[in-house]
Order: sequence, then structure tokens, then C-alpha cells
Amino acid sequence: MPTDIKSLTREELEAQFKTWGEPAFRVTQLLDWLYVRRATTWDALSNLPKTLRAKLRENFSLEILELARKQGSPDTTQKFLWQLADGQFIESVLIPANPALYGEASDRHTLCISTQVGCAYGCRFCASGLDGWKRNLGVHEIVEQILAVERWSAAESSRLKVASCKLETAAADEPATCNLQPATDSRVVNNLVVMGMGEPLANYDNLIKALKILNAPWGGGIGARRMTISTSGLAPQIRKLAVEPMQFRLAISLHGATDEVRNRLMPVNKKYPLSELTAACEDYQKVKGRMITLEYILIAGINDSLEQTRPLATLAKRLYAKINLIPYNKVEGLPWVRPADEVCERFLAALEKLGVTAMLRREKGGDIDAACGQLRLKTERALAESQQP
Ligand code: SAH
Ligand code: SF4
Repeated sequence: MPTDIKSLTREELEAQFKTWGEPAFRVTQLLDWLYVRRATTWDALSNLPKTLRAKLRENFSLEILELARKQGSPDTTQKFLWQLADGQFIESVLIPANPALYGEASDRHTLCISTQVGCAYGCRFCASGLDGWKRNLGVHEIVEQILAVERWSAAESSRLKVASCKLETAAADEPATCNLQPATDSRVVNNLVVMGMGEPLANYDNLIKALKILNAPWGGGIGARRMTISTSGLAPQIRKLAVEPMQFRLAISLHGATDEVRNRLMPVNKKYPLSELTAACEDYQKVKGRMITLEYILIAGINDSLEQTRPLATLAKRLYAKINLIPYNKVEGLPWVRPADEVCERFLAALEKLGVTAMLRREKGGDIDAACGQLRLKTERALAESQQP
């Protein structure tokens, strides 16, 4: 398999171009095509000499994510199911306004991206791991999720512009003269959360390289402080992340504040129990000096009793962390259910009384299977059924 062009950094491209005897400014042109204009074919790179395009085509692939399905309407949460070059499916979710869950309050767009096809960690409540792990995503497949969403968004806004232009010209009794091109340079994704399908820290090297490309001014241009990595608690990789020069935000999928509760939900807790996870987070916090977020899904009768609030608050204080409470999104075929709204509100109030910063996610993402992994699972299973003799 050839390397994909979007898995290379600027330095790597410069080194490659040097061996080809190509001037450095050609790299700038290429990067402009890839990350500003989001080109989808080699032929589109019209200001590069044909000979260079031929060399690129021979040596690299230029893979594009194909939109297989989309859920949600404009201005709400949009969920994209992408098909990869080998036929596998992954998901990304675009959330219009960031409700201050992972950073400062803002009206920006947050994109939730996947890092693996499936997941090996098998948390009992999660759709992503239900059919196991298939493979890691390549650097370019992580990067492409942002570009593909931005391509879609540019096409969508130009479609809307054309529609309104047609309306205006029709009203003015003139022949329709709309000739609008899709806006290619508009950026819609300002925040990234690595909380889609898969365990990001189990695909560590590809993740970090993809985030570097997405952070670089010549690439995605997204600030590292606007990138949140969520992990189920891989302690050694958390320590590794602590010494990365980039200032990512870190979120821990905790979901239980005692080993007893966590063991019931997350097999990974047997490998890295709370004592070890907490120690790694403490080290991370000391090195980075940044606030960690603890994710806590509320599941009825499992981890939503008020007894849990005390150990949870103790842990949060020890880690200088804030807590995001997320009412569980129902997954078809799994027995878990979301607690009543009053139960969630009471849990939040109890934490606040204990003096920790906590938020409760109140949006109704569940309507579109917003918990990642569900759209893929449904599609995979429907496809498998349709292919049965
Ligand atoms: N593997 C990483 C990142 C992907 S999961 C991790 O576990 O952190 C992203 C978040 O979605 C996690 O906090 C996960 O626990 C949560 N999640 C999974 N299934 C969910 C569901 N059905 N309802 C609500 N949150 C869910
Ligand atoms: Fe994997 Fe995260 Fe889902 Fe657990 S919650 S199965 S680690 S994607």
C-alpha cells in the first residue's frame, strides 16, 4: 500500500521534494491544495507541473472519505458515516456550538473524530466495541475526517447560496445567473474532540502525528488547546502524553469512582485500576499544569446513586479536575438505561455541594444515535444481513 500524502508533515514532504530535485515552493503549493482547497484528485492540482503530479501519483495515494450516510439537519448535531478505501466504516460528529464542555464557552464548531475501526476495550455500555476491533486508522484517515466535513460544509453553504440567489433573481424577474463556486477556504471546525470510535491512546503514534498536521499553520490550523483527547484510562500512554510538547486537553472516561463500579463497566480497569490511573493523571497534571476533565456517564441503577458522589468528588479534587456528567444514550441491544432527569440533576447538585466543578450535558444527542459507534454498527449489521444468502 502506498503512503497517503496526507500522512506526511511539511518537513517530510520537503525532504521528498528535495530528493526529486523539486523547489521548496512546490511543497507550499501542494499543501495549499491539500489543506486549504481540500483537493480530491491529483488532476485538480493545476499549478503543479504535470511531471510532478505524475511523480506524486506514482508514489503516494490521495484517499478521500466517502460519505455513506448522514444524520441530523443543518444547525443541529450532524453525524457522518464515512466509508474508508478498504470498505470499513467510521463516524464523525459535528456539533455546532461548543457548550463549554471541554473548553471555554464559545459559539464554535466542534468535531468529534474516530481513531480506530471498532474498539478492543469492550466497555459494557458502548456501541463502538460491540463487534470488536478491526484496525487502527492511518494518519491520513484521522486528518481526512476534518477535511471531508469541511468539504461537505462548503458544498452545503454554496448550495444554500445558489438557492437563495435563484430566489432573488426569480423575484427580480431576471434570468437566473447564479454562478457561485463552493467556498473552499472557509474553516468550520475550530474544536476537535477525539471521542469518536476507538481508543485514541491505543493508536498513539498515528493520533499524535495527525494532531500535529491538524495543528500546523500549513495544515488544519486548529490550536492544540482546542483539541481534547479522551481515553478510557491507558495509564502508560497518559504518562507518555504528558511529555508531548503540544498542549492538548485530556479527558478521562471514568464512569465509576470506585474499582467495584468501574470493573463492572470497563474491563480496562482490571489492567489499570483506579490507583494506577489516578497516579498517571496526577503526573500528567503536574507536568502540564492543565485541568483534566473526568467524563462520567450516568447509567440508571449502576453508577447514579448519591453514594458515588463522595468518592467522585474526592478524586476530582485530588486531580484538580472538573466533571462532565453525561446521561447515558441508549444503545440498541444493551440493557443499560439513562436515569430520570431529576436523578441526574440531584447527582449534579450533590457534587456541587461537595465543592467540585461539574456540568451536566442536557442536550438530546440521543435522538440521532449521537453516541459514537451506533450508526456504524447499525449500517454494518444491516449490510451483513443483506449479504446473507
Ligand atoms: N475510547 C475513548 C474515546 C471514545 S469514547 C474513551 O473511552 O474515552 C468517547 C466517550 O463516549 C467516552 O467517554 C465513552 O464512555 C462515551 N460513551 C460511549 N458510549 C456511550 C453512550 N451510549 N452514551 C453516552 N456516552 C457514551
Ligand atoms: Fe472503546 Fe471508549 Fe467505547 Fe470503551 S468507551 S469501548 S474505550 S470507544
